[in-house]
Amino acid sequence: MTPTNNRLHTHILGYPRIGSNRQLKFALEAYWKGESSLHDLIQTAKTIKQEGWEKQRKAQISIVSSNDFSFYDHVLDAICLIGAIPSRFKRGNGPISLDLLFTMARGMEKASAEENTIPQPMEMTKWFDTNYHYIVPEFEKDQHFSLGSSKPFEEFKEAKYLGYLSKPILLGPISLLFLGKKKDPSIKNAELFEKILPLYEEILKEFYSLGADWIEFDEPILTLDIPTEWQKAFYDVYPRLKQKVPALKILLATYFGPLKENREIVVSIPIDGFHYDWTRGGQELYGLLQNWDKNKVFSLGIVDGRNIWKNDFSNSLKVIHSALDYIPSESLWLAPSCSLHFVPVSLQAEKKLNEELRACLAFADEKLEELNILSSLALMENYQNDEQFKENQKAIEKRKTSSLIHDPTVHERLAALKETDLSRKSPYRVRKELQQKKLRLPLFPTTTIGSFPQTAEIRRIRSRYRHGSISQEAYETFIEEEIKRVVELQEEIGLDVLVHGEFERTDMVEYFGEKLNGFLITENGWVQSYGSRCVKPPIIFGDVSRKEAMTIRWSKFAQSLTKKPMKGMLTGPITMLQWSFVRDDQPRKITAKQIALAIREEVKELEKNGIGVIQIDEPALREALPLRKIDWEDYFQWAIESFRIASCCVEDSTQIHTHMCYSEFGDILQAIAKLDADVISLEASRSGFELINSFAKFRYPNDIGLGVWDIHSPRIPTTEEMLATLRKALSVLPKESLWVNPDCGLKTRSYQEVIPSLKNMVEAARILRNEVTKKASVEPTIAESP
Ligand code: GLN
Ligand code: ZN
Repeated sequence: MTPTNNRLHTHILGYPRIGSNRQLKFALEAYWKGESSLHDLIQTAKTIKQEGWEKQRKAQISIVSSNDFSFYDHVLDAICLIGAIPSRFKRGNGPISLDLLFTMARGMEKASAEENTIPQPMEMTKWFDTNYHYIVPEFEKDQHFSLGSSKPFEEFKEAKYLGYLSKPILLGPISLLFLGKKKDPSIKNAELFEKILPLYEEILKEFYSLGADWIEFDEPILTLDIPTEWQKAFYDVYPRLKQKVPALKILLATYFGPLKENREIVVSIPIDGFHYDWTRGGQELYGLLQNWDKNKVFSLGIVDGRNIWKNDFSNSLKVIHSALDYIPSESLWLAPSCSLHFVPVSLQAEKKLNEELRACLAFADEKLEELNILSSLALMENYQNDEQFKENQKAIEKRKTSSLIHDPTVHERLAALKETDLSRKSPYRVRKELQQKKLRLPLFPTTTIGSFPQTAEIRRIRSRYRHGSISQEAYETFIEEEIKRVVELQEEIGLDVLVHGEFERTDMVEYFGEKLNGFLITENGWVQSYGSRCVKPPIIFGDVSRKEAMTIRWSKFAQSLTKKPMKGMLTGPITMLQWSFVRDDQPRKITAKQIALAIREEVKELEKNGIGVIQIDEPALREALPLRKIDWEDYFQWAIESFRIASCCVEDSTQIHTHMCYSEFGDILQAIAKLDADVISLEASRSGFELINSFAKFRYPNDIGLGVWDIHSPRIPTTEEMLATLRKALSVLPKESLWVNPDCGLKTRSYQEVIPSLKNMVEAARILRNEVTKKASVEPTIAESP
C-alpha cells in the first residue's frame, strides 16, 4: 500500500465493543435472563460493529479492523477458535455455540438433565496491567486443538459485505499459549506449539481465500520478561506460518511496554509489519528503526489507547518525522498504541462536562479523528500553519497552565512533608500494647471488610437521591436507618470490631473521586471490565486535594450507636490511582502522593472524631505492579510511601488496618510489611493454604486477618471449615497476631448468606479461643511470639 493524497496510512488495533450506550451489556443481560432472543443479541452486535466501521471510515482510517468485537472476551473467542474447551464442559461435536461460550465464562445456574454436577466456570484474570479481565485458557493432558468457531471469518465477511476489506485481529498463537494454564504438569510447551501450528496455518489459508490482504497477530507477551523457551518459539512458529501462506501479510503487534531483550525477535522473524506501542516504549523506538527493513511496515502507536488525554500533535509529529528519517512514508503507519477498548467511546455523550476540561480529552472517537489529522499533518510542509494543528496546540498549552488543573498549594504541602510524617511515632510493639489497652479486644478478634449487602432498595434510594427525586434529609435518614440495622446485627452476632456498611457508596473509588478536587466523574465514560460488566473510571485531571469531609458524618454516627470500636473506612491512594484514568503530565507517583495527602487529612479528622480504628483499603496494590520485575522496586518505594503518607498521622493508640484481595501475595509480603499497618486482612480462602505457607517463610511482623470465607461464592461456610483454616494459620502465626474475617466486602451477598456465615465465623473464633486458652493452661509455652 502506498499513501494516498499525501497521507500516512492509519489503522487501529480494536474499537470499543460495548457500544456507545453500553448496548452490548443490556443485550447480553436481557438474553441471559431469557428476556430476548439470540437473534436480538446478534442484531445488536451487528449494529455495534457496523457503527465502529462507519466511524473508522469517517476518520479515513486506511484499513478497518475486524474480529475486534467480542460477545464476552477476545481471549475466550481465541479459546473457542482453537477448540480448547475444557473437558468438563462436554462440548460434543460441531461448532461451539454462543451458549456454551457463555457457560464457560459464567458457569450455569442448574445442572443439565444428563449431568448432576455444575462445571466450574473458567478462571478470569487481569489483562496485563489493565483493568480488563480475560478468561484464562486451560490446557489438559492430551490436549487436542481443532477449529471450533468461524467467528473471525464471519466478521471478515460481514465487513466485506458492507464494503470494507478489513484486517482481522487475532491473539497470536504464542501469547495465547503463554497466557494459559496447564492443568497437568506433564504437558510440554513444545507439544502445544506443534499442535497449535497446523490450526493457525488453516486460519491463514482461510483468510487468504476470503480475500484478506493483512492479518494482525497480537503478541503482547513480548513486553514481558519471558523465559528463553518462549522467545525461541517466535523463531520457530512465525517462519512456519509465513511459509505456509506467503501472500497473506502478517502484522505482528505488541503493546503495553518496551520490548527490551525481545527486540531482536521482531526484527529477525519473517513478518510483513510490526506494531509498536510508542507511548510505553519511548527511546527504544530509534534502536528498533535503525535495524528496520525498509520494505516492511512499521506501525507507530502514537495515540495513547490506554488513556483519555488529547494527543499533543507537536510532540507526535516530532516522533513521526524522526521515524521518517529511517523509513519511507509508504512503510510508516499510524495507530493508537493498543486497542481503543480501554477508553470510553465518545466525548459527545458527556453533556455536562466543563468546556476547559473537554478540550483536554479524547475518547475513542476523538482518537480516530486525531489519527486522521496526524496522518495528513505528517506529510505537510508547513503543518504549523494548519488550523487543526494550531487549535490542538492551543488546548495543549492551556492545559499546562490551567488553574483548574494546577494548584501550587498541593505541591507545597507535599514538599513540606518530613521524614517523620512517613512513620508512626512508635514501633509496632509499643502501638499494639496501647491499642490493646484502649480497644480491649479478645484473642482472635472478629471483624468484616466494610460493606454489607447492597440491596436493590439501597441502590434505588441512592439513585433517586442523585437524580434529585428525594430530599437530602430523606436520603440521610434512610442511610442512618440502614447503619442502625447493621450495627445492631453485628452486635447480635457478636463481632468485635464493627463497620457501618458503606451504604452511601456506589463504588469505593467513585465515592471519594466525587469528593476530591482534581477528580472528574464522567456521565457515560464506560469501559468494559469483563463480559457485560462495565466500569466508569474517574478521570484524575488535576492536583488532588480534599475539599470536604468525606466519611466523617457516617462513621461518627455509626460509632454513636455502639460501645464497640467502629472501623472508619477509606480507599487507599494506589487503588484510587489504579482504578482511574491518570494524568499523563506528571509522574504517577506524584499523583499517588497527592491522593495520599488528601486521605491523610480524612484519617486525622476521623481520629479527632473518636474513630479509633481506621481501615485504608488497597485491593489494587498488587495489580498495579509494573509488568517487568526490574521496575518493581521503584514502584514499591512510592506505593509504600503513599500508603504511609495516608496512614502515619495518627496516635499510637489508633489502629490502622488495610485490606487486599484476589491476588497472590506470597511474593510481596515483605513490601506489604513495610506499609506498617497495624492489621492487614488478606484473602486466603481461595488461595488458601498457599498463602499460609508463605507466612511460614516470611515472618510477618504485625497483625493479620486471614479471610476464612470466600465471599465471591454463594456458599455458606461451616464453622468447621473456617476452624480448619484458622488452625492451619496458627501453625505459622503467633496466636496474638491472628484476626478472623471474611476475605472481602459483603456488598455482593444477600443477608440470607451473610447472617449465618458471620455467625459461623464468630463461632469458629470462639471455639479457637477456648481451645487455645485451655491448651495454654496445660502447656504454658505454646505459640508464644518470639
Ligand atoms: N471496604 C471495601 C468493601 O468492603 C473493600 C472492597 C474491596 O476490597 N474491593 O467493599
Ligand atoms: Zn477485597
